[in-house]
Amino acid sequence: MFLAHFGIGFGAKTAAPKVSLGSLFLAAPFIDLIWPTLLLLGIERVHIITDGTRNPPLEFVYYPYSHSLLAVIGWAALVAAIYYIARCSRIGAVVLGLAVVSHWLLDLVVHYPDLPLYPGNSPFLGFGVWSSPVVAMALEFSIFAAGLWLYLRGTMASDATGKWALWSLVAVLVFIQIANAFGAPPPSATAIAWVGQAQWLLVAWGYWVDSHRRLATRG
Ligand SMILES: [Zn+2]
Repeated sequence: MFLAHFGIGFGAKTAAPKVSLGSLFLAAPFIDLIWPTLLLLGIERVHIITDGTRNPPLEFVYYPYSHSLLAVIGWAALVAAIYYIARCSRIGAVVLGLAVVSHWLLDLVVHYPDLPLYPGNSPFLGFGVWSSPVVAMALEFSIFAAGLWLYLRGTMASDATGKWALWSLVAVLVFIQIANAFGAPPPSATAIAWVGQAQWLLVAWGYWVDSHRRLATRG
């Protein structure tokens, strides 16, 4: 799952208007942001299935530190604590923590049963909506569209950058979603990890967009 996590990031701005979109783009995909590093360090593992029988062509063999429910709750607490210490905002910290946890719940819907509850000898969960690619894609785009709509309703561009930086970000996110779905399987786990590291640019892009937009005043 990709686009929907960013949809949560956009939408969460409504719940915590003072939190930058960049911080929300850090929190909602957080476990996918640390996963590439864990892959590169050889701590977590993914297999690529090249025979065309699986959408997406990946088997998440071992990822308890990024993607088990218990670990995700720990990461959420860490992200929330750091934000609270930095900004003294309880609501901001809570919303960021919930955004981190939302990732696991969304992944639970689409993943095949590969999500552990805790590191170690855990059962694996996943409702497997990925086996219906059209439904999975519709889900990604619906959540993304809803979140973007909330963000557009809650903020307005302060200058031209606030408009174009946002819409180019939206275009890039949609492009990545479609390229992932229709592109060739990645050549190696290392390639997945390095492409995954590029997601940090989306976090920076979120901060950039948000610094050129202000909260919409209605009424
Ligand atoms: Zn994930």
